[in-house]
Amino acid sequence: MVTSSGSNIHHLSASKMLPPRQQPRTGGLQTSLSLVTSDPHLSPDTQEPRSNSDNIRESPTESASSHETWPTADVAMAKKMENGNGKAENEFPEHSVVHRLANADKITLCDIARERVDVISEKMHRLPDEFLEELKNGLRVILEGNGGSQHRDEFLILQKLVQNRADLTAKTLIRAHRVQLEILVAINTGIQAFLHPSISLTQTALIEVFVFKRCRNIACQNQLPAEDCTCEICANRNGFCNLCMCVICNKFDFEVNTCRWIGCDLCSHWTHTDCAIRDGQICMGISGKSVAGPTEMLFRCRACNRTSELLGWVKDVFQHCAPAWDRDALMREIDFVSRIFRGSEDSRGRKLYWKCEELLEKMKGGLAESTACRVILMFFQGTDYAEH
Ligand SMILES: [Zn+2]
Ligand SMILES: [Zn+2]
Ligand SMILES: [Zn+2]
Ligand SMILES: [Zn+2]
Repeated sequence: MVTSSGSNIHHLSASKMLPPRQQPRTGGLQTSLSLVTSDPHLSPDTQEPRSNSDNIRESPTESASSHETWPTADVAMAKKMENGNGKAENEFPEHSVVHRLANADKITLCDIARERVDVISEKMHRLPDEFLEELKNGLRVILEGNGGSQHRDEFLILQKLVQNRADLTAKTLIRAHRVQLEILVAINTGIQAFLHPSISLTQTALIEVFVFKRCRNIACQNQLPAEDCTCEICANRNGFCNLCMCVICNKFDFEVNTCRWIGCDLCSHWTHTDCAIRDGQICMGISGKSVAGPTEMLFRCRACNRTSELLGWVKDVFQHCAPAWDRDALMREIDFVSRIFRGSEDSRGRKLYWKCEELLEKMKGGLAESTACRVILMFFQGTDYAEH
């Protein structure tokens, strides 16, 4: 969504990806502004807004790109438990190549994660390229995670080693071997793309990613803090990029032109709709600048703790994107709108919620997507439409 400031249009040209839904949109969206306390934990209004976070249904795509972001120990442990851990295979993949190398010369991923930059760098310069390729392959396999909990454990061990070191700085990393740096960045971010031969970031860019001065999303790569933002999240959350990551879960994905993301009208930071619903950041509140204004569904941004109205936003997304959606996309988007407005207490929001539920029901019964699309667009235009 384009924010009222229009600053996202600048983001668009500045970055290589289309950040979530940052297509320039026409039809300026009037934003509502309510001045509230800057402490996100304090309820700003005497009337506690009703949250629609009860009865959460998450969209199935929620974790679609999570493997491209930082796995956390929690997630890994949860996965480990759900998979049932068991067999202990080799601790780190054996490398089949270059057996003629003396053992003393060989290095492992663990060594790279653990030992001094200059020591490893020197060893790497003496090792054949095939051996270094095998090292990268070994990490790639681990990051792909097809080995289940064992690979996740291996990865977490490596990541912990790397992240607990104080000596990995921009200054020391200048002396790193290129492959060493790629491996360290991949371990630190959990993103295997840094190992890919076609990804050719400069040594400087890799170092910047490692020290959180550059966005780890290869499609974005903005300098951090993006837009020189001084908000609490951009200032304090290592590696967070306000152009492409969710303020709540820290993840990025490549979905655009969708109600999957909500942009803050005031600070332009992005939040997954699912994350916002789950965290109770979508709730009834007073819209408009008038204190006595009517209440409606609002989105409260975690970054600036201000609210943006939602009806105009979903309307805009639908008007600009719905004609291009296929049947599945349309159903998914209508479902987003339904879940956003489920807790509505105002009549416009209620009607939208019911219209979405009705359309989803009818589509399940075979209603053509073109008809459903017309109906919802007509609804947004405020016109009743009787389908046949
Ligand atoms: Zn910020
Ligand atoms: Zn980014
Ligand atoms: Zn999120
Ligand atoms: Zn904001």
